[in-house]
Amino acid sequence: MQETKDFKSSFNLYLRLLGYLKPYRSRVILVLICMVLSGVTTAFVMYQLKPIMDATFTNSSDPLATFHHLVLFTIPLTIIAALIRSVSGYGFDYLNRYLSQKVVQHLRSDLYNHFLKLPMSFFNAQRIGGLASRITNDVQVLQDSIMNIVGQGTQSLITVITIASVLFYMDWQLAFVALVVFPIALFPIYRFGRKIRHASGEGQQILSNLNAHIHETLASIRVVKAFGMENHEKEKFRITHSTFFGVKMRENRAYAASSPIVEWIATFAFMCLIVWMAYRALLIKNLTVGSFVSFIGLVFSLYPKLKDFNGLWGGLQSALAATERCFYILDTVDPMVDAKNAITVGPLKKDLEFKNVSFEYVHGHQILKNVSFSLKKGEVVALVGPSGGGKSTLADMIPRFYQPNSGQIFWDEHELSTIKLASLRSHIGIVTQETILFHDTIMNNIAYGRPGASFKDIQQAAKAAYADEFIKNTPQGYNTIIGERGVKLSGGQRQRVAIARAILKNPPLLILDEATSALDNQSEEWVQKALEELMGHRTTLVIAHRLSTIRKANRILVVDKGRIVEEGRHAGLLKKRGLYAKLYKMQFKTHSETPAE
Ligand code: ADP
Repeated sequence: MQETKDFKSSFNLYLRLLGYLKPYRSRVILVLICMVLSGVTTAFVMYQLKPIMDATFTNSSDPLATFHHLVLFTIPLTIIAALIRSVSGYGFDYLNRYLSQKVVQHLRSDLYNHFLKLPMSFFNAQRIGGLASRITNDVQVLQDSIMNIVGQGTQSLITVITIASVLFYMDWQLAFVALVVFPIALFPIYRFGRKIRHASGEGQQILSNLNAHIHETLASIRVVKAFGMENHEKEKFRITHSTFFGVKMRENRAYAASSPIVEWIATFAFMCLIVWMAYRALLIKNLTVGSFVSFIGLVFSLYPKLKDFNGLWGGLQSALAATERCFYILDTVDPMVDAKNAITVGPLKKDLEFKNVSFEYVHGHQILKNVSFSLKKGEVVALVGPSGGGKSTLADMIPRFYQPNSGQIFWDEHELSTIKLASLRSHIGIVTQETILFHDTIMNNIAYGRPGASFKDIQQAAKAAYADEFIKNTPQGYNTIIGERGVKLSGGQRQRVAIARAILKNPPLLILDEATSALDNQSEEWVQKALEELMGHRTTLVIAHRLSTIRKANRILVVDKGRIVEEGRHAGLLKKRGLYAKLYKMQFKTHSETPAE
């Protein structure tokens, strides 16, 4: 029962993979033609041994005519057939590589595009290095095996069918003895294939963990070094790596064991065939030397195919395990797609309104509880409160990084889920605490979000963000590559580049997560000025850590344990002597303008 299920699932996966060949119908037809030609000519060339041997060794009444026929007809025909075999072999090999490369290219793009559309909640639950491994390693396994499977597998099958037909045509009894080995050999091939598939899937999973580990260690290399955790990481890596080795060896054992078994079965069958042929040649005397040699030649071309099938079946199982992992992502995680009749909206006209919004990352653990407030056009609203209270979560609901579990959010009169995501996000600018910069030039980092912006606009934005001067002082100015995540810049510089990026995008609504880490006085002043420039008269929701920002805000919302517990302006809230007053005393008063949380 389990085996039938396995076989059915393999078959369905295989069919789905072949579906990627649809756009290349004409090439598929061409590759099939090449395969058939190559199979038929291989059998034909072998078959030609019979007339050649018979003509050479059988007594003929007219040796000269026989010789002429051999030289002028049989040999040239064989040479032409061999030429066709070579040309079709080339066509097949080339097209086969082309098609498998294309299948893999499509699958890789599908996966990558799918990743880009997935909701944030998906990424929270995954290790990024592990995901990248699906696009690289899993797809690579697929690429390595698929070429053999789709191409060589089918070609071998066609060769087997043509050779078998010729054998039956020559002598059905001998053909029967020669072919009976195939169903017998299929059994171990199939059994070992299952082992290979399971081990291969497991191996790919461990490899993706290994990748995630490498990714995480390298991304946090400063912390690893600073805390002297090199040995700890080395040990963690070694353990996962040796598990990987064990699983890989399980797969390799299955590969290695199946081949000798199949070979032995083939040798046994071959010996039976020889006994039968010898009996026919010596005792019954109804087998010519030509038939004998040609038959043996054909069987010699046939039996290696058994070994091929064995290798290919194993390869297919590895490929299917990898395919399964890729399709799993494509199938089980829904991308964030726009509703069918989603609309395009303009910049905010009146207000953004939260109505009784509740949200939980993990079922049963509510983070936002019945939050209601509105952010009016042109207003600066500051969110303050203890760490972990839900401020960032609340801000993340606006660009729809997350969906409320209950309640609604309105962009003017439109509920957010009725708006096209791209349209909604085009009106929102986000500057986060961790300024995310890419390994690219400063210019491209600023222009991220507005590709094609002119250099003049980019420079203007940099000037407004008080970044122009330091940028000019970098080795290649705006063309300086700033290293992965901007490591070649100081904290304050990174922030100003990120602010310049937001200024260039010029979003009507700004979400600002002020950095908590204190900068030196000079940098702080520049960043502060840049932020003021950015906020201007923009509608802004700011997760505020600076007293200066809080004072300037039109309204302050105090968020604690997922609720808005106080609302008002600085002076009013202080008078209330509630949570805000407490926070102020604890944080801002002692730390003056740049308190850390
Ligand atoms: P704040 O910005 O006020 O510090 P957050 O919105 O970051 O608070 O976090 C609120 C709560 O949500 C915290 O308890 C935090 O642990 C939890 N949380 C934040 N992000 C996630 C996440 N991606 N998955 C699960 N829980 C999260």
